Formats: sequence, C-alpha cells, structure tokens
Amino acid sequence: MSAPALQASGLYKAFKTGRSKIEVLKRVDFDAEAGALTMVMGPSGSGKSTLIASLSGLLRPDEGQVTALGQDLWSLPAGRIDRFRLEHCGFIFQGFNLFPALTALQQVATVLKYQGLDGRRAKAVAAQTLGEVGLEHRLNQRPSELSGGEKQRVAIARALAKSPRLLFADEPTSALDGENGQIVVRLLQRAAREHGAAVICVTHDHRLEAYADRVIHIDDGRIVDDVRLTPASPPAPPRPELRPATPERPRALAEA
Ligand code: ADP
Ligand code: MG
Repeated sequence: MSAPALQASGLYKAFKTGRSKIEVLKRVDFDAEAGALTMVMGPSGSGKSTLIASLSGLLRPDEGQVTALGQDLWSLPAGRIDRFRLEHCGFIFQGFNLFPALTALQQVATVLKYQGLDGRRAKAVAAQTLGEVGLEHRLNQRPSELSGGEKQRVAIARALAKSPRLLFADEPTSALDGENGQIVVRLLQRAAREHGAAVICVTHDHRLEAYADRVIHIDDGRIVDDVRLTPASPPAPPRPELRPATPERPRALAEA
C-alpha cells in the first residue's frame, strides 16, 4: 500500500491558562490516505480543532511529529510551512471565512492569484470551480447575498480550486441545515474519490458518518476508536491534475 498522505505520531499539546494547564492532545497517532474521506468525530472540547491545526501546520504541537506528503512538517522553517499550506492544503471552516466585500468569483480567484496565476486565468479557473459546486449562477454575489449553504460552497470552491492534496474541514456543516449539510459532505466525498485528495473532516455531526471512508473517534484528547467503512484503497494511480492546461475540466463536481 502507498504511504499515507498524512501521518502523525505522538502529538501532544497543552494550553496554560493562568496557573492551570489543560492537556488537549494526549499523544495522538493519526494517519489519512489520499483518495479517502477520513472523519474525526468527537464531542465539543475533545481536541478536534487543535488536532486539525496541528496536522495542517497552523498550530505547532508541543511534542510529536507530522509527516505530510513525505515532509516532516514541523521541522520546516516557518516560511516553508506557510508555503506548504499555500501549495498543498485547502481549508473549510464552520464560519465560511469569506471576505464580505468580495464576490464569489473574487473569493476564489484571489487564492489562485496568490498561487501565481495571472488574473484572467485565475478568473477562468475560479468560475469553473464554482460551477463544479453548482454556483455558476452566483458568481457575482457577495456573501451577504448568499445563503449559508451557498457560502459554504463558495468556501469549498475556494479550497478546491488550487487542487489541494490535503483538504481540511473543521465542522463544515454545523452552521447548515440537513439538506445543505448533505450537499457539503458529498462535495468533500467527491474531492477525495474523484480528485484523490486526502480529506480530513472533523465534526460532531453524526449524520455525516455515512459518507466517510473511515471514522476515527476522539475523546478528551485521545483516539478511542478507528473504523474503516470502505476497504483501504489499492495503490493510487497517478493523480489526475485538477487544474487543466485549458479552462475546460474533464467533469464537473456538480454533475453526478
Ligand atoms: P473541539 O474542536 O473538539 O471542540 P478544541 O481543540 O477546540 O476542541 O479545544 C479543546 C480544548 O482546548 C477545549 O477545552 C478548549 O477550551 C481548549 N483550548 C483550545 N484552544 C485553546 C487556547 N488557545 N488556549 C487555551 N485553551 C484552549
Ligand atoms: Mg472545534
């Protein structure tokens, strides 16, 4: 089997507040495969957000190691960690984190420009990715003119547009109703299955479990359960490039 896209061992993190210390990650071992939707379930306060932040280079653990796409993430200088996130990681948060002043198209295109695409190309790829999440008719709307479900789809398009190999979602459905939550989790599933990303989604929403390839339970900073719902994937074929040389894409995420 191919090496996991993401592997962590002995992750330990504690926060000091005043004179008390709270241990949030108690030596967590973790791995996630490319092409799979790995769900991390746990009650509020169990350490999910801290785990995802440690895995993705956002928050340095006190101890432990993260190997991401073959790189020892926390041994890199800070600038290289930022670069790694920019190049390889997509993020989706509960609160959408959109810029109020930007249209849907601009939200997605901005990220692509940071990656070095020129303006025209960035807009073309952004429009296409928004089409893949079913928002082709909302390109010029600002967040205040979009529903919660549409906002989260913009956030997903923004994360997917750069073809991340690692996609992190922190409670992506908790601000959404059941129907929109289902749309969102289906898009995450397809990012894994069709585009080969390692998708790590933390949530306390049990309705999402049905879409996962693997469900890991965390409680009080420890992994307490790890269940594969689909067989481990065979060695991955060469990863199809998400961003095509021409603006056309082979298939639309919103189609199937
Ligand atoms: P979850 O995402 O599962 O709800 P978190 O990882 O956000 O859990 O937090 C786990 C625990 O760590 C909580 O008790 C929270 O209050 C505490 N915590 C998280 N971040 C900090 C911080 N920066 N400073 C102090 N305590 C924190
Ligand atoms: Mg959280």
